[in-house]
This record gives sequence, C-alpha cells and structure tokens, in this order.
Amino acid sequence: MSRILIIEDEEKISRFVELELMHEGYETGKAADGRSGLEEALKGDYDLVILDIMLPELSGIEVLRRLRKESAVPVILLTARDSVTDKVTGLDMGANDYITKPFAIEELLARIRVILRNAEAQAEGRGSDGGKGDPAVLSSDCGIEMNTDSHAVHYKGKAVELTNREFILLKILMENRGVAMSRERLLSEAWGYDYYGETNIIDVYVRYIRQKTSDDVIRTIRGVGYMME
Ligand code: CA
Repeated sequence: MSRILIIEDEEKISRFVELELMHEGYETGKAADGRSGLEEALKGDYDLVILDIMLPELSGIEVLRRLRKESAVPVILLTARDSVTDKVTGLDMGANDYITKPFAIEELLARIRVILRNAEAQAEGRGSDGGKGDPAVLSSDCGIEMNTDSHAVHYKGKAVELTNREFILLKILMENRGVAMSRERLLSEAWGYDYYGETNIIDVYVRYIRQKTSDDVIRTIRGVGYMME
C-alpha cells in the first residue's frame, strides 16, 4: 500500500487528513515542522508527500527546494487562498500539484489518486511524455521553434529558457495553432484535470512566456482565453 507523509503544523488538519488517508488504506507518516518533515521525506520510503507551505523552522517552499535536490517523490502543496505566487513558485520548484485551504477531503483524495496513478504509469514506462508519433520539432509563423524531444525552444533563432510548466503550456498552444483555447482547457491539458476556477494561473504563465519571447507570440482572445496563430 502507498505511504504518504503529511508535513503540516496545524494538528487539527494533520490529524484529520491522517485519519482519512488511513481510512482509504494508505500508510501515513507525520511531521509538524519543515525541518523534521524534510528529514522524514528524505528517508525515501514515501510514495507521496503532502506539504503545507506555512510551516515553522523551514517553509514548505524551502523544504520542497531541498527535497528536489535529492528526491523526485510526488509532492502536493497546501497553499493559502489567493496566493498565486506561492502556487507558481511551488509548481516551478517541482511540486506536482497544489490544493488551496480550506479544501474538501474528497478533492485531496482525488488528486492523490491521480498522482499515484501517474507515478505508477511512469514507473512502468507508460508516461505521457515522449509519446510515439509526436513530431519532434514544432514551429510557428510567429517565430517559435520547439523541439519536443530535447525541450529546446528558440524564438526568431534565439534560445529561450523556459521552465517545465511554461514549456508544457507553450507546447499545447503550439499543437493547437489557430484554435482559441479556453483557460479551462489549457489547465486541464497542461495539468491533467480541473483546477476548480483557478484559471488565473494560466494568465501568469502566459505572461512569463511573453516576457521571454514577445507579446505577439500568444494572442489573447477576449472572453475565451489564448491562441497561437
Ligand atoms: Ca501551516
């Protein structure tokens, strides 16, 4: 059975999540501050970590940063409402997902199932990346060229450094050139499922991509979302 580590200083939440996870048949571990949480996570015998961002000793973001140097264990962040910066930082630092407090336990359980299923699929070599039949190089009239094997991206001949999330989002837009993509659809294709109205995350990533390339690369479609020509 999968083992899940809960790093959360609020005893009420931590206990509640632990009981629900045990009820679902997971084995659990707990830590109430960033430092001991990191130590526990680095022991390496967990299949998933639930990591609160606001923690004593070490913040959740710092725990994640240090953890990612040594471990690829899936991480779900617990974030405060309205903190888009935390979410974007967390995802860029390698969190697999985040959930906003207060959350419904069913939603957390659903996300855990998705991540564990993906991790299993990847372990068996059925990961969604690098699927057969994908063209290795995508290019657009606006000057973007991306190699989906090497992840190299060029804009008008110049190399562009994109984070993994920016790359995924740009790739989806490139693959759907000429199609007005709603924020919801972009989210579900980039992240795998719905983010319950948190579509402003997409605006943040589009802004980053534009800053690294040009405003003309991605068109805003009023009332819908975004499109590449
Ligand atoms: Ca906390």
